[in-house]
Amino acid sequence: MKAAPEAQKRLLDLAELDSVIDRLAHRRRTLPELAVIDEKSKLHARLATQVIEAETEAGDLAREQTKAESDVEAVRTRADRDQKRLDSGAVTSPRDLASLQSEIVSLHKRQGDLEEVVLEIMERREAADTKVTDLVAKRDEVRAELSAAEDRRDAALAEIEKETGEVQGRRTGVAGEIPADLLKLYEKLREQYGVGAAMLHGGRCQGCKVALSIAEMNRIKAAPHDEVLRCEECRRILVRTAESGL
Ligand SMILES: [Zn+2]
Repeated sequence: MKAAPEAQKRLLDLAELDSVIDRLAHRRRTLPELAVIDEKSKLHARLATQVIEAETEAGDLAREQTKAESDVEAVRTRADRDQKRLDSGAVTSPRDLASLQSEIVSLHKRQGDLEEVVLEIMERREAADTKVTDLVAKRDEVRAELSAAEDRRDAALAEIEKETGEVQGRRTGVAGEIPADLLKLYEKLREQYGVGAAMLHGGRCQGCKVALSIAEMNRIKAAPHDEVLRCEECRRILVRTAESGL
């Protein structure tokens, strides 16, 4: 393949721009925020589940407390009613009086027991409510950290997009100055090796860093200026410049 030396040199500008584009793409894939977002998302999901579990437990205890309080109330009402009957003097038979008094005593004892149950549930409920409050606070804190990391990621991505757009614009301009067949070869090599063209610098291919043999250097010296050369080692297009050491 033949191409004017100036067109061949433009390949080096193209390779430089392509390496910038590659670096930007690498930066996009390896943003530190991505790892933070991943970690915080998992933590947030775990905390959200724990909040639901804690809220369910607190809700169950709230219902349990209501039920226990209504049990207390029922016993109290019955004890009050018995007490009123006793105080009214309507019950006169000694046997009925004894039975009524005994029932009042046992109702008061029952009420005391049930009140103990209410207190015990209230303590458990208080602990459960505290757990909900703590978990909600932690979950919201992680949510805020996650949002902040997402904002930083979005800002970084927007910056990378902008830079990539600018570099791509310049690349289009440079590519326009390169003959179609040479550009096609460059693109094919870029796809295969990541870099399509390299400078011959001081007798060394800048693509693979391998020093060319004397025989190879002699072959290149003898080659016409417009011949498109390839590195024997890495197969990239080898571009001759003033610094090639020829
Ligand atoms: Zn090479």
